[in-house]
Amino acid sequence: MTTFVIVGGGLAGAKAAETLRAEGFDGEVVLVGEEPERPYERPPLSKGYLLGKAERDSAFVHSADWYEANRVDLRTGVTVAAIDPSAHTVTFGGGTLSYDKLLLTTGASPRRIDIPGASLDGVLYLRRLADSDRVRATFRGGARIVIVGAGWIGLETAAAARLAGCQVTVVEPQPGALHAALGPELGAVFAALHEANGVEFRFGETATEFHGDAAGHVGSVLTSAGTVLPADAVVVGIGAIPNTGLASAAGLEVSNGVVTDAALRTSAPDVFAAGDVANSYHPLLGERVRVEHWSNALHGGPAAARSMLGQQVEYDRVPYFYSDQYDLGMECSGLPSPGSYDQVVYRGDRSTLEFIAFWLSQGRLVAGMNVNVWDVTSDIQSLIRSARPVDQARLADPAIPLTDV
Ligand SMILES: Cc1cc2nc3c(=O)[nH]c(=O)nc-3n(C[C@H](O)[C@H](O)[C@H](O)COP(=O)(O)OP(=O)(O)OC[C@H]3O[C@@H](n4cnc5c(N)ncnc54)[C@H](O)[C@@H]3O)c2cc1C
Repeated sequence: MTTFVIVGGGLAGAKAAETLRAEGFDGEVVLVGEEPERPYERPPLSKGYLLGKAERDSAFVHSADWYEANRVDLRTGVTVAAIDPSAHTVTFGGGTLSYDKLLLTTGASPRRIDIPGASLDGVLYLRRLADSDRVRATFRGGARIVIVGAGWIGLETAAAARLAGCQVTVVEPQPGALHAALGPELGAVFAALHEANGVEFRFGETATEFHGDAAGHVGSVLTSAGTVLPADAVVVGIGAIPNTGLASAAGLEVSNGVVTDAALRTSAPDVFAAGDVANSYHPLLGERVRVEHWSNALHGGPAAARSMLGQQVEYDRVPYFYSDQYDLGMECSGLPSPGSYDQVVYRGDRSTLEFIAFWLSQGRLVAGMNVNVWDVTSDIQSLIRSARPVDQARLADPAIPLTDV
């Protein structure tokens, strides 16, 4: 019996297992995940689930009985300790299992803050279901929540905390919100949205110490400006680090993630990687990218599965991300980080929070974000994919369909 092993029970791993079966793979599929739950999606953890609006069950990728029905041998609460690409084995639970093909979907972990007081009770991170439960438990009306980091996790948590009636301060060393993700122009839109909803930002400041009470619970945050921010809880959202330990120890090429080609093959024969952990060559962008987005796990896992089956795969999807904060819903296609563009063009009025932003480089579309405007993602992605020069006046004109720009 041919055995395919998937290490990492998140969205990418679960979708890979689903694809193996959908493509007719009849061998053994073993899916190993260290979390106690079966695979689930993380976006609700900082949105609907954190707000208490979405049921826990709605986050799971498959129903509990799906795994047995599809002959996927799911091992939860099990950490893979080692992989040996030359012997084609994985080690976990004190035993060793041979594989024919191996997929690494080990995801990423929150970057930990290393300052005095970092291990106090009430200093929290947000990655897993249990983290979301812990953060939600601090959302008592009037509670003072300090958030370290004005990235996506920080801002979505800020929105949830404000909607729960908490006082929220966000400490961020960059001059604005979402600086690395969107650049200053669109970061300012999100900062204004949060300020209008009562969030206080401390831009240009870092958290330098957490101070606790006698019981070891955080009570305040000292910033680099000497400000003391009272805190009933702190949520740290300062980025994520790919879980590359297994791959490094096994001698795979690792550089900001497990390096793969466009077919999601790693440097070791019969070993593949997908999702947050993979730093994959992207044929459209002409470089390697590591994309920490839901959509990349959703589509990358299946692409890796097809590659494992020997199909011709060139994984070149336009990176896609979405977020919901207060009444703002948005989708972003492309990677508009500072340095990747030289101009931003708007279609619609930013102040009404119903617009599309386009990031251009030398007249070509690098990325586009639709804010409270829907059903335009595929048009935006086609424009990015075409890599052709676009007429800026037509791009900005809402009367001209994006297909005619
Ligand atoms: C709170 C939150 C909100 C988010 N919201 C959005 C959003 O709105 N939009 C969006 O596009 N993206 C969002 N994301 C990002 C998105 O959830 C991730 O890109 C996605 O979860 C990546 O899936 P993955 O399967 O690659 O990795 P993961 O979800 O990290 O899963 C990897 C799994 O592998 C396990 N694992 C690691 N090492 C081992 C080992 N040695 N043995 C066994 N198991 C192991 C891990 O414990 C984990 O369970 C959010 C992320 C978080 C944390």
